[in-house]
Amino acid sequence: MKTIEEIRLRASELTNLTNILALLQWDQEVMMPTGGAAGRAAQFSALSTIVHRKICDPDLGKLLHELAGRLDEVSDGDQALVRVLKREYDKNTKLPEKFVADFARLTSETLPVWVKARKHNDFNQFLPLLEKVIAMCRQKAGFLGYVHHPYDALLDLYEEGLTTNDLDALFGSLHTELSQLLPHKISQGKTLPKTLANIQSMRPQDQVAFSERLLAEIGYDFNRGRQDISAHPFTTSLGHNDRRVTNRFRPDSLEFIFSALHEGGHALYEQNISAEHTDSPLDEGVSLGIHESQSRLWENIIGRSRLFWDKYYPVLQEFLPQQFKDVAQKDFVHYINRVHPGMIRVEADEVSYNLHVFIRFELEKGLIEGTVTASDLPPLWNEKYENYLGVKVDSDANGALQDIHWAHGSFGYFPTYTIGNLAAAQIWHSYCLYDTDYRQTLQQGNLTKIRQWLTENIYCHGAVYPPAELMQRVCGEALNARYFVEYLKNKPEFSL
Ligand code: ZN
Repeated sequence: MKTIEEIRLRASELTNLTNILALLQWDQEVMMPTGGAAGRAAQFSALSTIVHRKICDPDLGKLLHELAGRLDEVSDGDQALVRVLKREYDKNTKLPEKFVADFARLTSETLPVWVKARKHNDFNQFLPLLEKVIAMCRQKAGFLGYVHHPYDALLDLYEEGLTTNDLDALFGSLHTELSQLLPHKISQGKTLPKTLANIQSMRPQDQVAFSERLLAEIGYDFNRGRQDISAHPFTTSLGHNDRRVTNRFRPDSLEFIFSALHEGGHALYEQNISAEHTDSPLDEGVSLGIHESQSRLWENIIGRSRLFWDKYYPVLQEFLPQQFKDVAQKDFVHYINRVHPGMIRVEADEVSYNLHVFIRFELEKGLIEGTVTASDLPPLWNEKYENYLGVKVDSDANGALQDIHWAHGSFGYFPTYTIGNLAAAQIWHSYCLYDTDYRQTLQQGNLTKIRQWLTENIYCHGAVYPPAELMQRVCGEALNARYFVEYLKNKPEFSL
């Protein structure tokens, strides 16, 4: 059929252009000299404009419309392609070109101001621009349209179909559970155990070598990817056979181990998408929440379990003997699982992490519906930290200024972190029903078995099934918080 062929061609061109944008971004974060910034911004802007025009092309709209009425005539894969492209087309055409340009300009102006405000611990420096960003995000919700709540329009950008109502229900009950659980799980010794004091002096080359070994062990294919260094670890896709990860290596931090597993989890998802989706918009993870479920599964559920370290702790000792030869595995596992509520989300443990997300979700919802104003943020933030986490925030730099998301204009993004945690536990539960010897699988480091199951059930599909449908297929029920709560309650590593 001609229409679908024309759609496939356009989809392939768009995917290739998007991959070039990703290459520009990767280069900027990994290789580019600082002097290249202005030129790179111009390249981004030029190529983004081309991509935007192509996705908004009225002819593409006509083709999609033409096919919409007779979708049953095409394959399941093509139906998914049309669905994904139609979403992109609708999102992009609903936003006026001037609005898109103004929003891009405003957020690029806001980012460096946020960096300075955080450095100087001065929220007021950030406030005027933040007010503008919020006003434009509210406008954006209006352009995109919604049925019940303006925040729904923004959520849908990151997690197809997710609504504020869903989150109120999901987060409400989880909040109660976590508040009861947290006091019981808080670890006694909050400081570094004496035996771990030597980790202060890890050499970067040893960290690189061990993280590459871990990536290889979980099945990351270095012929179709690579690990480089960047200021903040990330995963990016430059094409079907080129899925890259980054990491950072500090002499006194074990973060590199969990970043390797986290970014490795994102990359495994993308490396194992079926080759039939090459050069198609289906050649990526379906949503931020499902993507995060895979990074969290490998980082936390697998990578922080004692059984995993039964196999890999001797390997770590071999790569970093000075630091770990005199440290008992038990102490190491205890250390990487210690529960200690703090001010900073990205440093949070598994039990308190989602409370950080709830705070941001509640504030964002208020900002977008207009019941909270930007100037309310610092006092409201601090009050919620005290109530939810029992933590006194010592400064706005460690409080309402800590995350980049609002400076970026990414309202609606934070909840996907919690969705990822919940989905990870739920998917792992389904895996354990399939592999009743999962303890032995972990202990023997038979990670191929786990990866193959995830590939067959999740990875190979790419973006074919919307997130809610995928969860239903994999787990036989809708996303819920039950398995995550069970996981936290029963995790033996919290009380070693
Ligand atoms: Zn992630």
